[in-house]
Amino acid sequence: MPRSSVRPLWLLPAALLGGYAALALLPMALGAAQGLTPRPWRDDLATGLGMSGFAMLLMEFLLSGRFKGLSARMGMDRVMQFHQIMAYVLVAFLLLHPFLYTLPMGAPAPLDRDAHTWLSLPLLPGLSGLLAWIALGLLVFMAIARDGLPMRYETWRLSHGIGAVVIALFGLHHTLEAGRYSQDGLLAGFWILAALVAIASLVHVHLIIPLRQRRHPYRVTAVRPEAERTWTIELEPDRKSGHPGTPLPFRAGQFAWLKLERPLFRMTEHPFSISSAPADWPRVAFTIKEAGDFTGRIAEVPPGTPAYLDGPYGHFTLEPEDGRALVFVAGGVGMAPIMALLRQLQHDGADRPITVIQGNRTAGQILYADELDAMAGTLPLTVHHVLAEPPDGWTGHRGVPDRALLETVLPAERRTGAVYYLCGPPAMTDALEETLLSDFGVPASQVIAERFRYTLGGRRSSARRLVYGVLGTAAVILVGIMWFAGA
Ligand SMILES: Cc1cc2nc3c(=O)[nH]c(=O)nc-3n(C[C@H](O)[C@H](O)[C@H](O)COP(=O)(O)OP(=O)(O)OC[C@H]3O[C@@H](n4cnc5c(N)ncnc54)[C@H](O)[C@@H]3O)c2cc1C
Repeated sequence: MPRSSVRPLWLLPAALLGGYAALALLPMALGAAQGLTPRPWRDDLATGLGMSGFAMLLMEFLLSGRFKGLSARMGMDRVMQFHQIMAYVLVAFLLLHPFLYTLPMGAPAPLDRDAHTWLSLPLLPGLSGLLAWIALGLLVFMAIARDGLPMRYETWRLSHGIGAVVIALFGLHHTLEAGRYSQDGLLAGFWILAALVAIASLVHVHLIIPLRQRRHPYRVTAVRPEAERTWTIELEPDRKSGHPGTPLPFRAGQFAWLKLERPLFRMTEHPFSISSAPADWPRVAFTIKEAGDFTGRIAEVPPGTPAYLDGPYGHFTLEPEDGRALVFVAGGVGMAPIMALLRQLQHDGADRPITVIQGNRTAGQILYADELDAMAGTLPLTVHHVLAEPPDGWTGHRGVPDRALLETVLPAERRTGAVYYLCGPPAMTDALEETLLSDFGVPASQVIAERFRYTLGGRRSSARRLVYGVLGTAAVILVGIMWFAGA
């Protein structure tokens, strides 16, 4: 059944955004319910920004936790983009928070039982707030400048996790000790519970998942060249280890985090799309392009190397009952999950019309050329190769997968009825998504994209919709804060 006919596409994002806003506003509702004497509005605005910002900060842990159900419905890239954009909003709230107070700090007036004429900020909570505030600035700077920092991605990821825990713990101390409303048991309980849930999601990723992985080890069985600087690595469950291994119940097109060698708790794991089909189980294959220190060494991994998988994740999957035409557009190694989809379609004997557009820079980078040729004999499949730097005598398409190419290879009457799968560099994927949605009028439910980098697309339509969603949610939270401040 087509995705769109199951339930409206906006329902899940709308429910998630609503739940997010509700949780960000809950501490203020609990604060308002205490019926304390009103303070000047700027002071409650400062407190409201602090409370909402801290609640949002704790929810960032959940957004970067690995939730299979969420990633299967929304796509991990969108969840991580939400994590990134919301970080800007919460940082703005928390950076403003200390500057808006107007009340004097010091000893309470004799008749002021609920601190409405003065601010209580003893030394230690003041210090913890300051440290959380400085660490937050540093964390944000390191996240924005990540690509330019002289450190490995793994080191950055470790520092990001540790920094987030430090901020959460100092922030919790500050909130519980200095917060006027947090002196109430219910609100204090909320903060402690929220912090525990946040830290539990980190423990889940870095402790529970590795422990679970230990029970289902894999072993590398082969590494073979697939194209220029691109390798296919094959794994099988390690039966010799005494553990039977369990099927990775993945759907074609999904991805998994791959970790090679021990120790299990190191942060050297990387996400890769599974390029083999579920039908090939117990074999699992990944096609990996050299891009940095981990992928650059993939060719040297000897057979027999222990491997661990965490997955499956992602929403780049087919709807089995759907008979509509399929258009797959890949840029470079973005062909890996598309190959898994094609292999599964072939295994299932699919008879839906399939168009594959594979874009590369050079002819040496073309992936799975022979297998695609062979598939064209059994599937209703048309393959188009497009090269940015074609060799002399190249008879295929020239350039990159873009609107002009789609117009050339797809007859106008077939464009809006097909289901599109896009995977490649973010710029290509974003531009094609924009073309399909805005220029061709393809419904959003028929465009499924996977991005290999969690960056913000910015100008393009689907990223724009995400930004609108975030801004709308932030506006709702701001209105709640203004209400709390009585402004
Ligand atoms: C959902 C998804 C599926 C992917 N599928 C494939 C695939 O099938 N084939 C393929 O060749 N590549 C794939 N990638 C990209 C691959 O994960 C990176 O190229 C790889 O992690 C780079 O690691 P490195 O140490 O070699 O390079 P580095 O120089 O360490 O990293 C280069 C960039 O890769 C990203 N990256 C690195 N490590 C991680 C990590 N642990 N988690 C998230 N991002 C990371 C970062 O953006 C980083 O800036 C996929 C990425 C994602 C998010």
